[in-house]
Amino acid sequence: MTSQLSATIAQRRDDLIALTQDLIRFPTLNPPGADYRAICEYLADRLRAREFDIQMIRAVGTPGDSDRYPRWNVIARRDGKHSGACVHFNSHIDVVEVGNGWTYDPFGGALVEGRIYGRGACDMKGGLAASIIAAEAFVDTCPDFSGAVEISGTADEESGGYGGVAYLAEKGYFDPHRVQHVIIPEPLNKDRICLGHRGGWWAEIETHGEIAHGAMPFLGDCAVRHMGAVLAEFEDKLFPTMAARHTEMPVVPDGARQSTMNINSIHGGQPDQAEEDTSLPAHCVPDSCRIVIDRRFLIEETLDEVRAEVTGLLEALKETRADFTYTLTELNAVLPSMTDKQAPVVRTVAEAIEKVMGKPPEYVASPGTYDQKHIDRIGKLKNCIAYGPGILELAHKPDEYVGVDDMIDSAQVMAATLETLLLP
Ligand SMILES: [Zn+2]
Repeated sequence: MTSQLSATIAQRRDDLIALTQDLIRFPTLNPPGADYRAICEYLADRLRAREFDIQMIRAVGTPGDSDRYPRWNVIARRDGKHSGACVHFNSHIDVVEVGNGWTYDPFGGALVEGRIYGRGACDMKGGLAASIIAAEAFVDTCPDFSGAVEISGTADEESGGYGGVAYLAEKGYFDPHRVQHVIIPEPLNKDRICLGHRGGWWAEIETHGEIAHGAMPFLGDCAVRHMGAVLAEFEDKLFPTMAARHTEMPVVPDGARQSTMNINSIHGGQPDQAEEDTSLPAHCVPDSCRIVIDRRFLIEETLDEVRAEVTGLLEALKETRADFTYTLTELNAVLPSMTDKQAPVVRTVAEAIEKVMGKPPEYVASPGTYDQKHIDRIGKLKNCIAYGPGILELAHKPDEYVGVDDMIDSAQVMAATLETLLLP
């Protein structure tokens, strides 16, 4: 990398800090999807002043979009002097709920001993800020570049990305004729390249029974006992099978390098009473019990196999349990995504990490999904990775922070990547 570009980034440390703090101070909580317009306008104003062309795009009609909580997205594009590839940095602007246990103001952006604290500091406003500093330093230092640099701030990643990247991909913004390289600065650590993620399948299973007096349960049919049988099948058959199924994907942490399933919730019988309601429960046989399952699957498995494995166990219970009936409602499904290690964006970022950090990168895959799925499946753009500062384990936790040095280092990597891809 030219020493001038590298020095420019180092000199803009205070700007990077202030930018990160500004972004954290927008409480872009999702749900409900707050302040999206305000943060998009902030990004638009900043990048317009640096000669980026701005598009503000509202994902009308997507889940959660309303006049009160419109799903706004921003795309900023700066074209170079000559034709060439477009490198796109995509960051989500939303953050998850705050939760308990904070010692810092979650929307204060406090800078303490080289760390900036706040909800979204790590996931992923620090990454967004680093990519902006990298792109600005690059276009200022290398004004004769070819191709284009794009930066997007998108909605709703934390709730599936339907009002964000999925919508933009459907509108053609991630068409491979328009964009050739995508880097998503999610917090995967500054020396790791994330090639993709596992798939996910979410479903609600309800077992049915018949209500009767609790003193004569034999006159009814207990839906909770039926669900107990379902859970026993999962324990005896499904969990051991999943544990034995390993993936070639470099998923971190290690525990996620196999198929997994979480039982997200369970509800049976009468609804929970309100806290102030001190009455004793009536004696009834429950006629319904529901669970939500969260099944994460590997690139070696297909969605159809994952579905069939669960429904096969449920169907088999009909043979062994009298009056066993169930309803399975699929809630959502996401396919795994995995970019080839030889893809141009992977090789370029790997070289840049080696230059900046002095050692080769670690290649990882994410246990949970992120917006790469939409760029891959809807956009049909395969040259996409996640690379950004921040410690993955801090995401969604109290006192989430991002280190300023880590942001600087990853901005150096991003700028070196732009230099390789866009300088003639
Ligand atoms: Zn994120």
